[in-house]
Amino acid sequence: MVNSYRPKYLNEALKIRGEKNVIPLAGGTDLMVRFRNISGAIPKFDKPVLFIGHLDELKNIEIENNFVKIGSSTTLTSLLDSENIPSILKSAISNMAAPTIRNIGTIGGNICNASPAGDTLPPLYILDAKIVLSSIDNQRIIPIDKFIIGPGRNDLKDDELLTKILIPNKKFNKEFYKKLGTRKAMALSKISFAGLAEIEDDKIEDIRIAFGAVAPKIVRSRTIEQEIIGHNINEINELSYSIVKEYSEFICPIDDQRSSSIYRKQISIKLLDYFLNNLDNI
Ligand SMILES: Cc1cc2nc3c(=O)[nH]c(=O)nc-3n(C[C@H](O)[C@H](O)[C@H](O)COP(=O)(O)OP(=O)(O)OC[C@H]3O[C@@H](n4cnc5c(N)ncnc54)[C@H](O)[C@@H]3O)c2cc1C
Repeated sequence: MVNSYRPKYLNEALKIRGEKNVIPLAGGTDLMVRFRNISGAIPKFDKPVLFIGHLDELKNIEIENNFVKIGSSTTLTSLLDSENIPSILKSAISNMAAPTIRNIGTIGGNICNASPAGDTLPPLYILDAKIVLSSIDNQRIIPIDKFIIGPGRNDLKDDELLTKILIPNKKFNKEFYKKLGTRKAMALSKISFAGLAEIEDDKIEDIRIAFGAVAPKIVRSRTIEQEIIGHNINEINELSYSIVKEYSEFICPIDDQRSSSIYRKQISIKLLDYFLNNLDNI
């Protein structure tokens, strides 16, 4: 039985994906753990593996039509090295794992893994990232929050690969990112917070807020953001109590080996409060 495929080109990979029941492997940093075997033995995959991490067509970063277009097999390290990647996404990546994992782990793998603690996700949500899903004869583009449907679940079809991530090339003059883990490196998020804002003459022209690891999916509320937009930053002090209360309804973390639900909830609210009340000096 063939147990792996290593295509030379993307088209070949898409053809194999359409014809065979395979599991795509980009960097393998999630998959090697998911399919780990007894110590010393090679991982036990339940399907043939389709290697895609080496495909040049999936590894470029370019600016086109006011979008940053990132190939799905771009490594986390390459994203950190690129001047075209939004700094809030870089802040999240520089807090992920350690250089060894970042050298092989990819952005596409982090997205497809669909973990509520996936660290690229909160920045990608607030950057309004879109996902390009390709099969041999079709392509669809969907917002990232529609692609991720639950913990470990995404909207990828059996014949598709995630090929590109599109990020609108919009600038913000305020940003704040914070990840809390058990230690500084090699630790998954207990909670993460990403905030972006555009402030002009003390008025909030745009604001975007996302929380990671506090619910089955990343928490972002466009409705609450719209309620904040248009206010002057010195009005936020009065409003922050009700804003925090509204977000609290969406923040429903679990207890697990990394943290307690109470800690996660309290800290996420503190981070939100800090962001809202420091828009003038972050
Ligand atoms: C020690 C360690 C520390 C870690 N620390 C962190 C951390 O701090 N934060 C964090 O968020 N993650 C962390 N991770 C998880 C992991 O490194 C990241 O999620 C990484 O980005 C996964 O990328 P990958 O290319 O290795 O994915 P892979 O393992 O290759 O794939 C992951 C999943 O995505 C699918 N997939 C990959 N690419 C595609 C594609 N183009 N199209 C369709 N499906 C695809 C695979 O089939 C698989 O289901 C850590 C992992 C380890 C082992």
